[in-house]
Amino acid sequence: MSNYTDKKLLNTIGLSYGELSLKGKNRGQFEKKLRNKINKVLKGFDYQLFDDLSKLYVLINSENLDEITDKLRKVFGIVGLNQSAKVERNDEIIKEKVLEFANYAYEQGARTFKIKVNRSNKGFEKKSMDYARELGGHVLVNSLFEQVKMKDPDIMINVDIRKNVYIYTDRIKTYGGLPLGSTGKGLVLLSGGIDSPVASFMMAKRGMRLNFVTFHSFPFTSHQALEKVKELTDILSLYVGKTRLYSLNILKIQEAINIQTKKDLATILTRRAMMRLAERLSGVMQYQALITGESLGQVASQTMGGLTCTNASVEKLPVFRPLIGMDKTEIIEIAKEIETYEKSIEPYEDSCVIFAPKHPVTNPKLEDVLAEEAKIENYDEIMNEIFEEREYFNFG
Ligand code: ATP
Ligand code: MG
Repeated sequence: MSNYTDKKLLNTIGLSYGELSLKGKNRGQFEKKLRNKINKVLKGFDYQLFDDLSKLYVLINSENLDEITDKLRKVFGIVGLNQSAKVERNDEIIKEKVLEFANYAYEQGARTFKIKVNRSNKGFEKKSMDYARELGGHVLVNSLFEQVKMKDPDIMINVDIRKNVYIYTDRIKTYGGLPLGSTGKGLVLLSGGIDSPVASFMMAKRGMRLNFVTFHSFPFTSHQALEKVKELTDILSLYVGKTRLYSLNILKIQEAINIQTKKDLATILTRRAMMRLAERLSGVMQYQALITGESLGQVASQTMGGLTCTNASVEKLPVFRPLIGMDKTEIIEIAKEIETYEKSIEPYEDSCVIFAPKHPVTNPKLEDVLAEEAKIENYDEIMNEIFEEREYFNFG
């Protein structure tokens, strides 16, 4: 937000939703989801949600401006926010308010300005360009400004004419995406690392409602390690709303793998067990996809061979890997933006690391993996036990 804007003038936040407007007859439904979500995140605030010529607005108290803006920033489906002053469609009032914007900007050091008029309401008698010129003239006559500048002015005052009129200076770009719940429901395999929280964010942004599952190896992994994943879930609930984290202790299958199979395939075999357990949860909870934080080539288990072997353990569901083509630096950038990074880098042991081989096979073959897996006695019974002993925690 520009320092040239008087926040005390701002009493309304306009919401733009680009992609939604393209969705034709689905638009109504998306808009309803968006409204529901907005009402949820603004619970407890004094506000009013309304539409004006098919754009949504939130009328607020100016003192809550930043706090409410921050909440709305995290709502998927919104591409931009305008912190505006809402006024009546009355020439005198509009001129007066534009002048207030200009005077404040001048006091703060702005020396050039531009007025831009957008007239969605074609019933408004004056043409946009003419009205912009008229308002500009009014500012030049009544303020200390001496110069209008069409290109790169110090301050741009936008006047959006609808049933009411909204005056604003900046547009805040937000995440975009689709309203939560509009594309389905998925289950994220959430470790305590950097990647899976980012993968969660990416799918939530595309409108997926999410739950989470984490695997631990207590007592080889600590209670703090699980606490860390819970805290990550708590941060993610800011984006995904009400959610649930399942926690499964996979130590029994890890021990069986460790004792009965070749050491260098342990990670892949563990990963396959995780996928199976996640898919089984989906059978109970109707998740439509599994989601992981895998990225091609990042570690030994994420080579083409590794991914092929992991993938083959999933029977029915699609597995979404939204980070597959991203570099670690890009992933870290998003982790910082969504505020999971600091939590993710806290050093607690991950359950895969416990029995991780010193020299994992970097490009395992599925037939070798299947042959090793077949050696494990009572595989199904062990998996049943693990599944039956699952716990869960609710968030949001
Ligand atoms: P992350 O940073 O998300 O931990 P990573 O780079 O450490 O990822 P891996 O440990 O190989 O990668 O894990 C790949 C993916 O498998 C993770 O992104 C996550 O989706 C899933 N996964 C790994 N370990 C666990 C676990 N203990 N519980 C739940 N999911 C896990
Ligand atoms: Mg990990």
